[in-house]
Amino acid sequence: MFKSAVFNLEEASKDQVQEFLNSFDTVLTDCDGVLWIDNNAIAGSAEAMNYFRKLGKRIFYVTNNSTKIRSDFALKAQQLGFIADQEEILSTAYLVAHYLKGIGFKKKVYLIGSNGIGDELKAVGIRHIGIGPDNVKPDFKNMKPSDLDPEVGAVVVGYDEHVSYPKFMKAASYLASEECLFIATNTDERFPKSGSIVVPGTGTLVRAVETCSERKALVLGKPNDYVRKFLESSGLDPARTLMIGDRCNTDIEFGVRCGFQTLLVLSGVTSTKDLEKMRKEQKPPLPDVVLPKLGDLISLTS
Ligand SMILES: [Mg+2]
Repeated sequence: MFKSAVFNLEEASKDQVQEFLNSFDTVLTDCDGVLWIDNNAIAGSAEAMNYFRKLGKRIFYVTNNSTKIRSDFALKAQQLGFIADQEEILSTAYLVAHYLKGIGFKKKVYLIGSNGIGDELKAVGIRHIGIGPDNVKPDFKNMKPSDLDPEVGAVVVGYDEHVSYPKFMKAASYLASEECLFIATNTDERFPKSGSIVVPGTGTLVRAVETCSERKALVLGKPNDYVRKFLESSGLDPARTLMIGDRCNTDIEFGVRCGFQTLLVLSGVTSTKDLEKMRKEQKPPLPDVVLPKLGDLISLTS
């Protein structure tokens, strides 16, 4: 574990940077805000990730985004200059499918979500219903038990731009049965957009279903530690693992909960001002080290 007095890696000596690079074998990185923003790579991020790979580090891309299948994520990463294999993509859509398959789930999923989760479920042979619009009809409150599919054994909530009142009614009605599983991809409050328009994140939907079902979802995305459990079977050593993120309350919190080292980059959600405030108030979760952006690591090594 890198236990240097240096917080800002830019202030580290060459030896300290080397010590840092030698202190981990596995790199987990968030994507949006660390590697890219929307469809634009953040300058230097691909070089830094590919440098880790050259040093022999194992790499995993860990994203709460549930709208894409792994091969689409890998393709996006490759198009933006990152060396990436679909086996290295740990997206929440994949984690949901992997989890359900792992417990031998045989029933049907009622999905508040999109094709990303739907296709990952299909890939492991799990049937699902619910994708797409479920519009509000004038008599929507007269929904009957016969409108529900008796084969449904799990409700999964991810990002769904077609979310509607009938969907909430169905989800909560399925969840009225104690045997029905309740799984969520993540609880992010908002999408990382700048400007004055707020784009509500998946957490908005999860909390709504939790409220009307009076149940708590099993959340598989960050900051929950399901990914660590997932990787432990492949010999992950938490003390020699680095988590890179742009968001303290998901990425860094996740790293801290899992016992990983943490690197915060200030190219996404958490700003320099946010970090200063958190440090002043000693408000966890604080990262071990910080950089303005991931690509800055490259100039520190040469
Ligand atoms: Mg991010």
